[in-house]
Amino acid sequence: MKEISSDFIEKSVEKSADRDHRKKINFNIGRYNAVVPGGKQQFENLNLAREKAKNIKWKAIESLDKQLERFEAAISKRGAKVIWAETAEEAKEEILRICKEKNCRSIVKSKSMVTEEIHLNEFLEKNNIESVETDLGEYIQQLDGEPPYHIVTPAMHKSKEDVAKLFANKLGTDPALTPEQLTLVARQILREKYTRAEIGITGANFIVADAGAIAVTENEGNARLSCAWPKTHIVITGIEKVIPSLTDLALFWPLLATYGTGQKITVYNTIITGPKGRGEVDGPEDMYVILLDNGRTNLLANEKTRESLYCIRCGACLNACPVYKNIGGHTYSTAYSGPIGSVITPHLKNMKEWKHLSYASSLCGNCTEVCAVKINLHELLLENRHESVEEGGSSFAERTAWKLWKQAMLKRSLMNIGNRKIKNWVVNTLLKGWKEHRSEMEFPKKSFNQMWQEKYGNR
Ligand code: SF4
Repeated sequence: MKEISSDFIEKSVEKSADRDHRKKINFNIGRYNAVVPGGKQQFENLNLAREKAKNIKWKAIESLDKQLERFEAAISKRGAKVIWAETAEEAKEEILRICKEKNCRSIVKSKSMVTEEIHLNEFLEKNNIESVETDLGEYIQQLDGEPPYHIVTPAMHKSKEDVAKLFANKLGTDPALTPEQLTLVARQILREKYTRAEIGITGANFIVADAGAIAVTENEGNARLSCAWPKTHIVITGIEKVIPSLTDLALFWPLLATYGTGQKITVYNTIITGPKGRGEVDGPEDMYVILLDNGRTNLLANEKTRESLYCIRCGACLNACPVYKNIGGHTYSTAYSGPIGSVITPHLKNMKEWKHLSYASSLCGNCTEVCAVKINLHELLLENRHESVEEGGSSFAERTAWKLWKQAMLKRSLMNIGNRKIKNWVVNTLLKGWKEHRSEMEFPKKSFNQMWQEKYGNR
């Protein structure tokens, strides 16, 4: 099997030279950049709002065990069943068990990155259960047999013409349909799926500890239908999504809307507190909440990277990242791409195979600057690099090169050894990997030391 890191490099090289891809991404990120400042206007003091959000998440994550138990106790009282899953396999087996119990053949699913993380659709398909994505972007991706490209806008890399062509190929529609007409086609198909589905699966944007509730944010109403129409509702969520109190939503909802899509508030915000209660006519008869670890406690156990669990999956860091914009979401080959994906994936999966993502950064710090909850993303990327080196993830040649570099940098006399030509040869021979995709490194004609001496003498 090809190494994950070489596959990443290969895909990156190809994608970054794809002008059509760049045009579409620049167009869509340009539209995002145009609306976000409008959303930000609603905050009297945006910086304070972000600081406060970070503080709330800090509090939630530092007391994660207690917050989750509080949530479990409250929602269980109203009849929901909480399932703790340590791994992706455990979560999938639990879902399959419920499906068997309910004689389920068909599922409607709203957008959820956790289900991408555990490859739920493929698993259900193997077990002969149809699982239909109901978010329009996710539906487009499913129709095309592709995973989501972006954590907020799954089909960001497709133009409206691409979507019309896809619908024409897969559904036999007129290739000249407008986006509105395409939406109506999808709506008609999906409505019919809702009437047949025995189970609805959603994610959770927030787990509200004190209220024992799940908060779901969306723009299409499909998540609301997915959790309310079928007789059984399954929520699957990462344990880090917790916030302590219902009142915290007053801050997190507008923050997520603004940083996610530039809206002041997302169109549908739903708080789900359990299955249908006695005397209620709407809602599912059964509700299950699967709380997934799947490597999150690795991040929790690490005092430095713990901060990445504050993420509210707004996607702003992806849109701001020069690397993401050039290589695109699929190149990462993980559910979580961009800066946050590069920070958490090596911990969720394993450092040895995924450390390369932490090197896929110019460390410009733009991700940290735009993060809705002020996660120090670029520092965490450096931390991952550090950890990987500590764990022996660097090559002998690299370690030797840096050792020599350090020696030379610490001694003026060593730095002055050899002329410019020799120095050029040494660095370009030692750091061969650097040259594969870049021009050679060149020392300036005169060193700083020489220029200083010329100007000031030996002072
Ligand atoms: S790391 Fe920050 S900017 Fe990136 S998705 Fe998470 S909250 Fe948004």
